[in-house]
Amino acid sequence: MNLGSIHFRLTLYHGSLVAVTLVIFALASYLSFRRHLISTLEAQCASQTNQIAQSLLVGLPASGIAYVQDEIQEHYAPEANNLFIRILSSKGTTLYESGNPRDHSFTPPQLGFLPTLDKPKADLDPREHKLIFIRPYPLSNGDSYQIQIAASLLPVEGSLDGLWKVGMLLLPLALSASVLGGFFLSKRSLERIREVVATARRINSSNLQERLIENQTGDEIQDLTRTLNQMFERLEASFTLMTRFTADASHELRTPLTVIRGNLELLLHQGKALPHKPSSEVSEILSQTLEETERLSQIVGQLMELAQLDSGEVKLEREVFNLTELVAGAVDQLQLLADDKQIQLHTELASPIAFKGDRYRVKQVLLNLIDNSIKYCPAGSQVCIRLFSNSRAAVLEVSDNGPGLETDSLRHVFDRFYRVEKARSRELGGSGLGLAICKSICEAHDGRIEVESRPGEGSTFRVLLPLKDPAPASRLCGISTLPAH
Ligand code: ADP
Repeated sequence: MNLGSIHFRLTLYHGSLVAVTLVIFALASYLSFRRHLISTLEAQCASQTNQIAQSLLVGLPASGIAYVQDEIQEHYAPEANNLFIRILSSKGTTLYESGNPRDHSFTPPQLGFLPTLDKPKADLDPREHKLIFIRPYPLSNGDSYQIQIAASLLPVEGSLDGLWKVGMLLLPLALSASVLGGFFLSKRSLERIREVVATARRINSSNLQERLIENQTGDEIQDLTRTLNQMFERLEASFTLMTRFTADASHELRTPLTVIRGNLELLLHQGKALPHKPSSEVSEILSQTLEETERLSQIVGQLMELAQLDSGEVKLEREVFNLTELVAGAVDQLQLLADDKQIQLHTELASPIAFKGDRYRVKQVLLNLIDNSIKYCPAGSQVCIRLFSNSRAAVLEVSDNGPGLETDSLRHVFDRFYRVEKARSRELGGSGLGLAICKSICEAHDGRIEVESRPGEGSTFRVLLPLKDPAPASRLCGISTLPAH
């Protein structure tokens, strides 16, 4: 589990909160139960002293000491109720003292008459496991007595011990159940967020018109989905505006550029025949301007193409064709250029692959990739063009042993106007739009393009085109053997 995830943090916070609550609750229950047991014991002692005082001491002058002693011994003696009882008089005599408690759980307190005591009091002696209760009782004839009762704390401690054991067993169980419950609950609620994120991630410039499904749950997830959909709407609007602008601007630029190019060519070629032949400097300036104008025309053309691909204005001319034949044709087309630069082209082509797509666009991708390898590799390099297929896709690879690309360049190489060495690329006639167009074309075919490269060792550009409904090769006319290379 990812320790930084909301899921983990929610479970952790929930678990800690439940643990603290359970401990506080258990502690409060334990203390209040203890208080209750001790109060009950105190109340029992108070009631006993009260009974002794009200029923026996009050009649002491008339009934005599012996009668009182007998009565206490008979009704309240330790043998009957496991208490220790002592009655002291203010004159220093002991009116009655019982034997030890029945279970010998405590030793009787050694307490004398307390002259300052004017109301009942209870003392706990946990070390000796006893509670001592003393009630002063003044008689109307001026005599004063104190009734001491000591009771065992063992039953109280036994009950508390039982409660403690149950708590120790139930607390971890309740905590685990609650943490598990919290884990699954937070997992369930975050699952919907994960779904929204996964769907939002699939939306890119090529399918900006898609929207997330908004479930009418009235909760925060619906809010999030609606906000994301509104954001996609705004993005789509500005993206459409941008591509519209690029398409319109490049369209408007094309005509004047064609006129300028035509005029420059005319000046260059017919100027020599004029009575006042332009000087060599003027001719040089004219041919440089023509070169730049041609470059500009190429960029404008590529920009327009990209804008049309982005806006979906370009309808792909989908037809079933022999991809193997197309690759072989593209290689043939660039053979002369490669020979000029002393670059060797190799091919490894699979048996005929039937592919349904835009023949012209796929060839454009291929030409661009091979042309780049020829352009950016030094003389003597080797370029290998491979074509094979698996059950799902046709794979086209253009590998070279040229300069390769740095890791940083690999991330941006398909971006618009990205060139590794701007000056060198410009010199070679590059605009930085070729690979961006390749990417758009591949995506328009529901495929993708990727690159692997090591600086100084070469690059491999790989195009994957899905074979959605591949027509059987036999249906392709003219496929009999592989083109020879
Ligand atoms: P360009 O028109 O400049 O060739 P691309 O989009 O085709 O534009 O390529 C972008 C950049 O990627 C190029 O400027 C070049 O620096 C680099 N590049 C493309 N292909 C290769 C290759 N086979 N080897 C090395 N660098 C390459």
